[in-house]
Amino acid sequence: MKGLLLLAALFVAVFSQKLFVGDQVLRVTAKDEDQITLLQELSDLEDLQLEFWKEPRHPDLPIDVHVPFASLQAVKVFLESNSISYTVMVKDLQQALLDEEQHQMKRFRSMPQDHNTDSFVYSTYHTLDEIYGWMDTLVSEHPNLVSKIQIGQSFEGRPLYVLQFSTGGADRPSIWIDTGIHSREWVTQASGVWFAKKIATDYGRDASLTSILNKMDIFLEIVTNPDGYYFTHTSNRMWRKTRSTNPGSSCRGVDPNRNWDAGFGGAGASSNPCSETYRGPYAHSESEVKSIVDFVQSHGNFKAFVSIHSYSQMLLYPYGYTRTPARDQEELHNVATKAVTALSSLYQTNYRYGSIITTIYQASGGTIDWTYNQGIKYSFTFELRDSGRYGFLLPANQIIPTAQETWLALMAIMEHARDNPY
Ligand SMILES: [Zn+2]
Repeated sequence: MKGLLLLAALFVAVFSQKLFVGDQVLRVTAKDEDQITLLQELSDLEDLQLEFWKEPRHPDLPIDVHVPFASLQAVKVFLESNSISYTVMVKDLQQALLDEEQHQMKRFRSMPQDHNTDSFVYSTYHTLDEIYGWMDTLVSEHPNLVSKIQIGQSFEGRPLYVLQFSTGGADRPSIWIDTGIHSREWVTQASGVWFAKKIATDYGRDASLTSILNKMDIFLEIVTNPDGYYFTHTSNRMWRKTRSTNPGSSCRGVDPNRNWDAGFGGAGASSNPCSETYRGPYAHSESEVKSIVDFVQSHGNFKAFVSIHSYSQMLLYPYGYTRTPARDQEELHNVATKAVTALSSLYQTNYRYGSIITTIYQASGGTIDWTYNQGIKYSFTFELRDSGRYGFLLPANQIIPTAQETWLALMAIMEHARDNPY
C-alpha cells in the first residue's frame, strides 16, 4: 500500500495527473422509467462530480457511472434507499489504470527498436507524439501507397492528420475511417494504428483488399481529437470532449459527437458546457469537426464513412436524432449483419447492431447522421470492446484482438461498398 501511495505521489509530481484513488465505477440496473428518472436527477447533482460512462436513458440498457471516492457513500445510500440495484464494476479506478498500463512499463525497455513500423509495439497504448512519429515512418516506408494530409488544426493548434491510402487515379470513390474522436476511448486510436499497418501490409498480398484499393481510396484519421488525447495522457485519463473554452463557464470542451449539423440541438445532447454530452454553441463549432466537414465536402466522393468509438460492442447505422428510418435501412441492416458475422467469427465477440435510436437511445448532432444526410450511404459507427468489465480502461493485451476482429467487419463494409457502386 505504501509503495502504491509512493507511486501515486510520483505520478502527481511528474505528470500532475488527476488521480482516482478509491473511486469506483458502478453498473446500475434500473428496473423501470421511475428509476431512470431518479438516476437522471442524481446525475444533475453537480457536487457529486459523477461521470456517467453510460447514461441513464432507458431500463433495458446498463448504466455505468464513475463515482469519486468522496461521493461513494452518498450515492450508495441513494441507490439502496430507492431499491435501485447495482454492482461494483471497477473497485478502484486508480488500480484499474495501473492494470491497463502495465504494458507501458515494458514498452520503455523496447523503445529503441521503434524506428520502423515492423518493430513498433502495437499491443500498447502510445502517446500522441509516438503515433504522429509512427505515421511519418509508415509514409516513408510506403511512399507509393500512403500519404499524410493535414486537414486542419485543433483548438490548441495541433495538426489534424489523415492518412490517405491510394494506388492512383483522381477523385476516386473513397472510404473514410476515423478513430479517437472521443479521446478516452484509447482502444480505438490503438486499433487505428493497427488498421493502417494492416492496409499497408496487405496491399498486393490480400486479393480482396487489393481490389478495394485498385478502385477506391481509404482515408484514415487516427487521432481525431488530439487535444483531448494529449490531455488523457498528461492530466485526466477520463477526458472525452474537445478542449475548447466555453465563454461564461469554467468547464471546457464540447462533445464532438453531438456537434454535427444533423438534428443539432435536439434531444440526446446537452446545452450545459459542464456536461459530457455538451453539443457546443452552434453546429460545427469545433475545428476537429469542421475540418472533417470541409474535407468531406470538398472531396465530394465518399461512399462509406465509419466512425469508431468504444465501449459497448455495437455496430450502428443512422439515425440517432430521429425515429424516421433511414431510406436505406434494409440494406444498411444487411451490411451490418455481414459485418458483425465476420467480426464474431474470430473470437466469438458478441455484438448488437441496428440504428442508433433503436439500439442505444436518441442522440442528436452525431457524426454519421450528418454524413448519411450528405449522401454517404454506407455510414456506420462502431462501439468496440468491451461490454463493461473494463470499459474505457481496456487492458493493453486486448488491443490486437480487438483490432483484428474489427478489421474483419471493416472489410465486409468496404467490400460491400466496392461491389455496390451508387
Ligand atoms: Zn465515443
